[in-house]
This record gives sequence, C-alpha cells and structure tokens, in this order.
Amino acid sequence: MVNPTEIFAENVFSMKVMRERLSEATFQSLEKTINTGTLLDAGIADEVAESMKEWAMSKGATHYTHWFQPLTGATAEKHDSFIFPDFKGGIVTNFSGEELIQGEPDASSFPSGGLRVTFEARGYTGWDPTSPAFIKYDDVGAATLCIPTIFCGYHGEALDKKTPLLRSMKVLSEQTVRLGKLFGIDCGDAMAKATLGSEQEYFLIDEALCAARPDLLQTGRTLFGKPASKHQQLDDHYFGAIKPRVAAFMADLDRELWKLGVPAKTRHNEVCPAQFELAPVFETLNLAVDHNMITMEVMKTLAEKHGFACLLHEKPFAGVNGSGKHNNWSITGPDGKNWLKPGDNPHENAKFMTIIVALMKAVDTHADLLRASVATAGNDHRLGANEAPPAVVSIFLGDCLTDVVEQIEAGGASRSKDGGQIHLGVDLLPKLPRGNTDRNRTSPFAFTGNRFEFRAVGSNQSPAGANVVLNTIVAESFDTICTQIETAVAGGKEFNSALQEVLAEVITEHKRILFNGDGYTDEWLEEAAKRGLPNLVDTEASLEALTTDKAKDLFAKYNVLSNEELESRYNIYVEAYATLIAIEAGVAADIAKTMIIPAAVSAVVEYAAVPAVAGIAAEMSSLLEKAVASAATLEAAKNAKAQIAAMNELRASADALEAIVPVDLWPMPSYADMLFI
Ligand code: ADP
Ligand code: MG
Repeated sequence: MVNPTEIFAENVFSMKVMRERLSEATFQSLEKTINTGTLLDAGIADEVAESMKEWAMSKGATHYTHWFQPLTGATAEKHDSFIFPDFKGGIVTNFSGEELIQGEPDASSFPSGGLRVTFEARGYTGWDPTSPAFIKYDDVGAATLCIPTIFCGYHGEALDKKTPLLRSMKVLSEQTVRLGKLFGIDCGDAMAKATLGSEQEYFLIDEALCAARPDLLQTGRTLFGKPASKHQQLDDHYFGAIKPRVAAFMADLDRELWKLGVPAKTRHNEVCPAQFELAPVFETLNLAVDHNMITMEVMKTLAEKHGFACLLHEKPFAGVNGSGKHNNWSITGPDGKNWLKPGDNPHENAKFMTIIVALMKAVDTHADLLRASVATAGNDHRLGANEAPPAVVSIFLGDCLTDVVEQIEAGGASRSKDGGQIHLGVDLLPKLPRGNTDRNRTSPFAFTGNRFEFRAVGSNQSPAGANVVLNTIVAESFDTICTQIETAVAGGKEFNSALQEVLAEVITEHKRILFNGDGYTDEWLEEAAKRGLPNLVDTEASLEALTTDKAKDLFAKYNVLSNEELESRYNIYVEAYATLIAIEAGVAADIAKTMIIPAAVSAVVEYAAVPAVAGIAAEMSSLLEKAVASAATLEAAKNAKAQIAAMNELRASADALEAIVPVDLWPMPSYADMLFI
C-alpha cells in the first residue's frame, strides 16, 4: 500500500525540508530569491550547501551533480563525490557554497552551434534555486544529489534550454505585471508566473521485441513494418481497462514520480494499442519543464524494470497514431490568480479579453516561430498526419468567445447570439462553456476554458523551446498593447474606450488566426493559404523562421536570446536534423541488406521448387529486385530529402514483402507482435 501524502517529495530538498533545516534568516533570504527572482545572496550559499549535503547523505547520497539541459534536448549530469581526503589517511565530506552555485564540467562535447571556439570550450553550470534539488537512486541503491542548473559559456552565452526559458519567464512577468497595473492590480514586487501542465504520451512494448528491432533500438521508430490488420480502428483501446502488466508499471511510475515531487495525476490508455498517457498537475513553468524531463527519464528506466521498452518517439509506428506532448499553458498573475480564467466582474473580464486578444496578436505575428519550436525529424511524421494538429498554426477559441471577440471588433454592436451587447470593463461576459464541453481536438492552439493548449509539441521534445517562444511572443504583444493603451490614456482618453479601440484594431489585424472548424480537412489548408497563414510542412522549412530579422529582433529586444545565441540554435537544429536522417538512412539500408533481402531470398528459393506457388515466387522476386535497387539508391543519397525519398521507396517494397514472405523467415517482430503483446 502506498500513501501518496507520505511519500510525496520524499527525495526532494523541498521548501518544507529547507524550512526545517536552514536557519530562519537563510530560509527567508532563499525564499525571497525563489519567489521574486531577486539575486541570490552569496553569503547564504555555504549554509545551504552544507544543509543540502547533510540531508542528501542522510538519504544515502554519496555524490552530487549539477543537472542541466544542453541543446541536445536531453539532460546531462557529471557526478562528484562529497569526499575529501583529511590527509591523515581518512576522509571528510564536504560541499561548499561555491560548489553549489557554480560548476565547471568539461563539457566541450556538447553542441554550441558555433557559440564557442575550442580554446574557450569550457561550459559553466549555475544553480537555479527555483527548481529544487532532488535525489536519484540507481538500481543498486546508490544515490546522487541532482542540482538543477543553467549551462552557459565563458561570456555568459546560453548553451542550454533552461537559461532562455528563465529569461523568457522574467520578461513575460514584467509585461504581465505592467498589464495588471493598467487594470489597477499592483502587488508590489510579486512576479507573474507562466504555468505548464504537459500531458505526456508514450508507447510501451515488450522489451524483447524491441531488442529484435535494430530500427527501434537505434532510431526510436520502426523504419519498416506492414501495418497490423487490427490496430486502432475500433477505438477499443482509448480509455480502456488497463492491462495488469501495464497497470503495474503505471503504479510504479506514479510512485517514483511522487517521490521526486512530480505531481503525476492522470493515467490512461491512449488511442493506439500499446499507447498511454500521463498528465501531471500543472506547476510553475520552469519546474514543470524540469519535471517533464524527469518524467521521461523515469519512464524509460522503469519500463526496463518491468520488461518493457518505453518509446517516446513522435511516430514509432506508421499508420497509427503518434505521440505528442500537449502543452497546457497559462499565466498566474502577481495576485496569484489564473489570468486566463474569465473573471467574476466586468473589470476582470476586460483584462481577460485583453489577454485573449494579445494572444491572437502574438500567435498570428509569430506562427512561424511556434512552428519552428516543434520542428524535429520525429514530429515531421506526426504533424498534419490526421491525428495530430496540422502544420498550420491557428487558434481555437470556441463559438462563444469568438462571438465576444467579434463584438469587441464591431465596437460593442448588438450582434451577439443572445442579442446582448458587451461593453468592456462595464458588462459581464456571457457564460463561457466550461472546459470539456466545447472541445476541438484538431486545433494546434486551443483555448480550453482556463488555459491554452499547444498541441504540436513532440512527445520526445523538451517543452522548453515551445514555451520560450510562447512567453516571449506574448510578452511582446502585452508590451505593444500596453504602450498603445498608456499612450491613449495619457492623451486624455477614458480607459475603457481606449481599451476598446486598441483591442478592436488588434482584432481586425489578427482575426485571420482564429479557426474553430476541423483542422484535419483539406478545405482548411486551402482556406489557411487564402488567409496567408504559413504552412511549413517540414523541419527544414520550419527552422528558417529562426533566421529572420523578425525573430532576431524579437529575442534580442527582450534579452531572451542574442542574435548569436539564436543563430547557434538554428545551426544545431539543422545539423541535428541532417544527422538524424542520415542515421535512419544508414540503419534502413543495413536492415534491408542484412535482414530483409536475405529473408526474401530464402523465401524465393523455397518457393521456386513448388510450381503451385510460382505466382507468389514471381511477385517476391520482383519486390526483391525493387528492394535491392532502392537500398542502393538509399546508400547513394546525399541529403535528407533524397534519403527520405529513398527510405520511403525501400519501405514500400519491404513492407509488401512482409505481407507474403513466410512468417518464420521474416527477420523482425511484426507490428501486430509489438502492438498487442
Ligand atoms: P485533457 O486531456 O482533457 O486536456 P488532462 O487532465 O489530461 O486534460 O490535462 C490537462 C492538463 O492541463 C493537466 O496537466 C492540468 O494540470 C493542466 N492545467 C490545468 N490548469 C492549468 C493552468 N492554469 N495552467 C497550466 N496548465 C493547466
Ligand atoms: Mg489535453
């Protein structure tokens, strides 16, 4: 039996632990740093470090590591033990404030995208006190204290995903606080906080079957495989009863996550057989991102313990659903309230509508950047594949809210469904349908009652990138709108009419981004093209958005990424994409030559002796010939486009062979094996 209240955050150096273990003055200073983003008082670092070490050792930790998120998209750690020789033949344990605050891993092998030259190759890690340290146990019970850190170069260049995320949260907070002041909300130095709940989809398949698939092992997805006759057509897996073996994994997963302070909440079967989802309760963005990274890691290691392989790839199996990471995002104002929740009075509603309209402006202006933030080789297979949002970014507001937006644009004209008028700051909004009643699952960016859900993030991606973009574009939009209102008011205009005018103008300019219909249809793609909305179909096209002046100016203006830092990301992502496709191409060619072609040859030889199956033998021969030719084309292909085309061609003949080659000769587990065992 597990009592969540007893084990929750048991392995976290949490506020509660800090309050118990630190002196009053030190705790208060640290709490202030965490809550208000003020600079850490270096004077308290020694005490915090000592206390952290004592606590960690009491939980069995022998080592600590700065835990960071380099631009590979994974997490990184390098362990140091607490021991120090006492020079009398024994040891003392030691962990100084300096070691807590800054580290200097020899991290020259991480991608820097040109930000570092080799002689300055060192990277520096710096403590992020807003995300608590935690203890990770390995299989033999050895424990390591993990300290979340940023990772940057000698001159402070951000070499990681956390640094720009923290910067973007800061600028979003500043602009949100400014917006609040326009509406009479002044909470001193309290910050606004972006919040995130990221639903994580994943596949579990039997570990032995995965081990027999070199493609899954090396690329995370199946490069070959004839679709199973039964897969998800009956929708009988979605929310179905969870099989005992999977249920045991999920129970273990929740328990391990709870111990690490991850508020795992929801678990269920997804649409595709062998596909599942975990959703946590939302948290402050930075923490939620760290917790998602932890979640992915724990999923993978625990799956092994249960004899499973956990697949986080966006499209491990062709022909059935892929996996995403729904990015539920909102803003908690400095008053501690969710500002994407329609309010209880006209004043709050005016603020709410201002934020909705600002989001329209942000997403329309920078749809290309949002698209770029989810551009990966894996996600290319998923976006627009009739189960995931299209590559065109649009916003779903629902009929009711759209109607309000239209009324504001028309200047309060009486054209709402119930015939009423809405005067900003004076009237209440009509009752909006609550969350689940008005759902559109085909929209990439949907309002879901009290938050926006960006659904295009890939299951395997760090959520950081998408949220850096989101925070920054919304901050810019708040900035522009605040300036317009402030200017109008300074010129003598009454606040509510200034607001009405500014919002009406913004709506006229950006309403093309609204789309409440079915995002999976071809008609929408045509309509989107007419509206001039970008449709960036693949990673190579999408990443170009990072090179525009618009992008450079945006990120530089708000100090989120300098031009050099932005360029480095572009370089890294372009190279990562090419490398990944080249690996897939290599693995596909290997499998074809050493597994599929030999199997087909055996089958042809076996069948050749039996006149009754001469027809099948001929068909196999012809497919075999095609496979041999495609494998050669693939090996000669020099760039990603050519490699992808050749892989598709090769796969077509290989999958057709799988349909007729005797099953005992086929060299790999089938889709049916993997999805149903
Ligand atoms: P659904 O599948 O219907 O979208 P889930 O319950 O699976 O619903 O996931 C919803 C996610 O949205 C959860 O992680 C939840 O905590 C999160 N969420 C709810 N409110 C907010 C908010 N204010 N900010 C960010 N995320 C939120
Ligand atoms: Mg959702």
